[in-house]
Amino acid sequence: MIKLLSKIVADKIAAGEVVDRPLSIVKELVENSIDAGASHLTVEIKNGGKSYIRVTDNGCGIDKNEVTLAFMRHATSKISEAEDLGHIMTLGFRGEALASISAVSRVELITKKREEKTGSRLVISGGEVEENVPVGCPDGTTLVVSDLFYNTPARLKFMKSDSTESTLIIDFISKMALAYPEIIIRLISNGTNLFTTSGKGDRFNTVLTVYSRDTGEGLIPVFVESESIRMEGFVSKPSCSKTNRKHQIFFVNGRVISSKVIEAGLEEAYFDKMFNGRFPIAFLFIWVDPSKVDANIHPNKKEVRFDDDRLIREFISKEIRAVLNTKKSIPEIKVKKPEIIKKSGGDEQVNIKQLLSTLREKEDFPSYIEQYSSEEISDEHSDELKTEGKKHQPFSMKELDLLGIIFGTYLVATLENIFYMIDQHAAHERIFYENLMKQYKNNDKAVQKLLIPFMINVSHTVRESSYDWLDLLVDAGFDIEEFGPKSYKISGVPTFMTIQEAQDFITYFVENISEDIDLSNEKIIDKIISKSCKSAIKAGDIITMEEATALISDLSACENPYSCPHGRPTFIKLSKYEIERMFKRV
Ligand code: ADP
Ligand code: MG
Repeated sequence: MIKLLSKIVADKIAAGEVVDRPLSIVKELVENSIDAGASHLTVEIKNGGKSYIRVTDNGCGIDKNEVTLAFMRHATSKISEAEDLGHIMTLGFRGEALASISAVSRVELITKKREEKTGSRLVISGGEVEENVPVGCPDGTTLVVSDLFYNTPARLKFMKSDSTESTLIIDFISKMALAYPEIIIRLISNGTNLFTTSGKGDRFNTVLTVYSRDTGEGLIPVFVESESIRMEGFVSKPSCSKTNRKHQIFFVNGRVISSKVIEAGLEEAYFDKMFNGRFPIAFLFIWVDPSKVDANIHPNKKEVRFDDDRLIREFISKEIRAVLNTKKSIPEIKVKKPEIIKKSGGDEQVNIKQLLSTLREKEDFPSYIEQYSSEEISDEHSDELKTEGKKHQPFSMKELDLLGIIFGTYLVATLENIFYMIDQHAAHERIFYENLMKQYKNNDKAVQKLLIPFMINVSHTVRESSYDWLDLLVDAGFDIEEFGPKSYKISGVPTFMTIQEAQDFITYFVENISEDIDLSNEKIIDKIISKSCKSAIKAGDIITMEEATALISDLSACENPYSCPHGRPTFIKLSKYEIERMFKRV
């Protein structure tokens, strides 16, 4: 027999889609507060939100005649027509959250509109209204959710440990704090205030408050606008990387989302600047025309779909590359403040377990406990971050005042108030690599003929492979031809290489192409070429000051002079200010 489900059963089923763990409740409530125009927002959780979730805001409040309506499914004040779906500017729009949450928990709502004298208190449990009375209360809305999943035992069992659930919530609120720096956001867990943001609209300070100062110092600001996309935020210098993508946080039109497209754009930007298996830190805020992005593909709205993936990916990779190719990406030596380890109750012993967990947190999670005020970061640094993100200043490398070479390896130089060290070999590698790539892409090849050609032997598999690796070398400026069953004769090499470099390059190259390598994949080719470059550059050559000057001049002509093709920095800098700090002059 076919029957219509009762409202309570239907709501419970629908709730499963929207509310699957404490995080999803926090997310819906916080989004509602933001949609309500709140400028002040407190989130409190206990036991990872399993036993208690409270969200208090100073937003518009709900009319006393509409409090029960708000808990009905498909009740929303945010859209009314189907075509409204095309230009959603609010975070919520399905009108499902409150209905779903109240179907699987006990909810207490206290709310008052600014223009009204009294507010309302509504208690609703398992979808049934238990109380609806007028109360005196502040403007805005408080929602308290307790007894979560009391009537859905399967979900109750599905919840993870308190710390897993709270980590997810803390992570989410941290991201919201970044997305909404103009809202004062306070987060309390088990009675401890984890952070309170200033609400002054400064994203960089929010990073310092919510994450750590260390994270903040490795960041470069990004600010670009095209006709259809705006992107701002921070990305890390190639020298500051992580072992996973947890520190890549993306927002599209104000929503925290995950996106393979944005990840791919980032990866391309750092492609020759970071070692394999390392990931940049990125806090990216992207705005696109709401009609060009679909937010409606996932009930929890975690993923978005762009109309034009390629446009977004290319925009991100191109613009971030441009930022990384400025002197901002040079790693800087900073004087560390001595770590203060708090002793509890006069006990002199350091709690090793606690220390270890703090250290672990530093790597994997934002360090919520460390809070830095804006004054603690040197004014110079934050000013730089605020203003220079808007225009990329070219670094006049040729104006460097070269002072000498130390340890037979590092050029030392100054420019204005900054002291630089340049790794001669990393620099040489970068120049070599870019010259080769330029040659490879150019139609005119600069080839020097060799008086005495040299030979290389290749393995049977390479010889037999149908790949056009030979063409690749020809494109790079080598004169190479078959010479016997397993040998090739090289009678010309790119002009910028010495014969030794050319020999080492080509030997490494043929040793590392194997059958399973897809030579039509540009990235793979690039990788082999960059590794071959490395093998061609020998360490420990003593160079003269003239050669050093020429090296800097060649380096300045590079597209990305600040790292070798494998991500090692070519430059390291130390500001006069930091030197003065070390000598305790400031
Ligand atoms: P949606 O957000 O998709 O509209 P919800 O079920 O989350 O659906 O909320 C239903 C309605 O309740 C909202 O459209 C809004 O009018 C009202 N509401 C919910 N939370 C708040 C709040 N914190 N402040 C003011 N109004 C709210
Ligand atoms: Mg909502």
